[in-house]
Amino acid sequence: MTARTLFDKVWSAHEVVAETADTPAVLYVDLHLTHEVTSPQAFSLLKSLHLPVRRLDRTLATLDHSTPTKTEQVFGNVPIVLDAAAKQVRTMEQNSKEFGVDLFGLRDPKRGIVHIIGPELGASQPGFTIVCGDSHTSTHGAFGALAFGIGTTEVGHVFATQCLLQRKPKSFAININGRLKPGVTAKDLILAIIGKVGVSGGTGHVFEYRGDTISALSMDERMTICNMSIEAGARAGMIAPDETTFRYMKGRARAPSGAAWDAALSRWKLLVTDPDAVFDASVDIDAGALEPMITYGTNPGMVLPISGSIPQRAGDPVFDKAMAYMGFRAGEAMLGKPVDVVFIGSCTNGRLEDLEAAARILKGHKLASGVRMLVVPGSQQVKREAEAAGLAKIFQDAGAEWRESGCSMCLGMNGDLVDKGKYSVSTSNRNFEGRQGVGARTLLASPLTAAASAIAGRIADPRHLL
Ligand code: SF4
Repeated sequence: MTARTLFDKVWSAHEVVAETADTPAVLYVDLHLTHEVTSPQAFSLLKSLHLPVRRLDRTLATLDHSTPTKTEQVFGNVPIVLDAAAKQVRTMEQNSKEFGVDLFGLRDPKRGIVHIIGPELGASQPGFTIVCGDSHTSTHGAFGALAFGIGTTEVGHVFATQCLLQRKPKSFAININGRLKPGVTAKDLILAIIGKVGVSGGTGHVFEYRGDTISALSMDERMTICNMSIEAGARAGMIAPDETTFRYMKGRARAPSGAAWDAALSRWKLLVTDPDAVFDASVDIDAGALEPMITYGTNPGMVLPISGSIPQRAGDPVFDKAMAYMGFRAGEAMLGKPVDVVFIGSCTNGRLEDLEAAARILKGHKLASGVRMLVVPGSQQVKREAEAAGLAKIFQDAGAEWRESGCSMCLGMNGDLVDKGKYSVSTSNRNFEGRQGVGARTLLASPLTAAASAIAGRIADPRHLL
């Protein structure tokens, strides 16, 4: 039998109809995650065609993108301040009720960012195909799932048929070996990968992250890596499940149990790339040579080691436009640049280990004068765990705002925004123009770098505080 990659195995197990030169494949979807922003039109489509949601047992809904993070608007009697956000929340509640979709509502203790709660509940499983109307669905690939974002029309197709029309992408091995140095995190690693591959280097491919660096990572770290696959243009990112994955899955609310667990484990252990399998493309990364990374421009590929200087790219209009937007110039050092806002959160870095890392740096310190810091847990479960571990108190004692879960400042749809012209060190995944607010200037970094910069009021190297 031909040697196959992990991606090949998951793809072929879900192919209902194979693709031809003229037609894409019909791919079965194991798990459809949905939220308030990309579902209204899809539900309208179902209504207009008088169709039900075909597999309610394979559909999970949450409220995250435009939900408030201020406690009084979630649990108090203060209404949601933003009209557009309030309408989206209401619409999701009505649609879920009408179609019988399992929704984690605003006050549900299981609510959170869609890419955080899927794994947390054990709903995201090895070997699954997982889709969601959000680009960072690639997060779930950390479990050996084939997970990718879909458009609003496709959300409607999956609601109606539990299938999707797809062309098969190519495979791309990201071989990462070596031990990460202290202060260098999974976020730095994925930023370095994007810097090397480029923002469109992965287009048309599915990444498989491989090597001893990946094997040594926790599931939280693996999710950070897979989350940003899309920022290198890849359709998805995958990591073969192993003992770390199985330990994470066991006992979770929606993970298999009893005899079903044993059967699942036998299947999951086969989800590895065969030794002789050939990838369509590959790149090698020496993780031991990396230092903390930070972006300087307006896409995640405009990234450099924190001690570096902005490169010269004469004659590059994209670079020139980015520098004008960011208020930076070629040749400038990143360390020491002033910081106005720090955001810890998002589906990239809103998990417990991320908050632990930031708290390790912040403990016993105060935010620099004039710095605003928002810490937004990725889910209500992460929030409870962080509070029980004393992390929330560390953030509050330092002067940071501690919020309810949600996407928050990752894209600011709920009104958590960065003001025009201000610099934000953010643990999220996109630094596009206006992503955190009109004119906001975003610098992507790890929770360690973000926390160190909050204390200094300037871009700071976290290694000095460890
Ligand atoms: S945190 Fe950001 S990237 Fe993640 S799901 Fe929310 S909006 Fe999308």
